[in-house]
Amino acid sequence: MKLNKYTIRDLQRDFPNDKACLDWLIKYFYPNGIYCKNCKRITKHHPIKSRPSYSCDICGNHVHPTANTIFHKSTTPLTLWFYAIYLMTATRAGISAKQLERELGVTYKTAWRMFHQIRKMMYDDKTPLGGEVEVDETYVGGKALNRRYAANFNEKPKEVVMGMVERGGQAKVRHVISSGTRSLLPQITKNVKIGAQIYTDQWPAYDTLPKLGFSHKSINHLEAYVHNNVHTQNIENLWSHIKRGIMGVYRHVDPKYLQAYVNEYAFRYSQRNNPQAMFWALMERVQKV
Ligand SMILES: [Zn+2]
Repeated sequence: MKLNKYTIRDLQRDFPNDKACLDWLIKYFYPNGIYCKNCKRITKHHPIKSRPSYSCDICGNHVHPTANTIFHKSTTPLTLWFYAIYLMTATRAGISAKQLERELGVTYKTAWRMFHQIRKMMYDDKTPLGGEVEVDETYVGGKALNRRYAANFNEKPKEVVMGMVERGGQAKVRHVISSGTRSLLPQITKNVKIGAQIYTDQWPAYDTLPKLGFSHKSINHLEAYVHNNVHTQNIENLWSHIKRGIMGVYRHVDPKYLQAYVNEYAFRYSQRNNPQAMFWALMERVQKV
């Protein structure tokens, strides 16, 4: 089902102030009411005026709905956080930290921090991939995004990024230590269902996939890029988006921010068939940081 686009008017209606945002978090985290650790049951809680927390009506125990979220201990109002999430999901291509600074009226430093935190939320380690899955890795950093065989020893060390794309489905992208078996295979066993059909190129690191319970077919890119349905064109497509992003806007991505950076590309790819629902898809990940 296609959802209607969530507009700025919807956002303003749903989240007119910080209390509305906090109420949403409470309803989201405690759909059946708040369980009080002291009273050992669900009790009535009331909001505390001076801070973003709720208190048990009976024993006074405090509950912080922002705990384990990117909003925790932030001095930025929740309305601005929700607005930032809205802005980052309102367009197909997303926006920059600079645009966020302008739209929110906060400093660049604050905007950049929010931007990075929201990207962290785009990480998906639940929903494993199944069916037909294309797997590939690539190098990021230095002067360009190079294939493994094109490494130039005089350049800065490049970071390895691996991607897993379910045909017709979701994508996951991971910043990994190396392009070796021990670095790549654990990601596959973690993120792809046993029995899935995996397509890769002929990088030897993938040779042991059948031993781990996967079906595996590889394509020799020196001979052809597509042989019947054996190809990695979906993941190649995702790489080209990431490559254009890094070269066009950032030129250099600090390795410590690389995972968050690629999260956004994986998230957008996964939401590509229903971009209208992106705001709520991200709101559902509010606690996963
Ligand atoms: Zn209590």
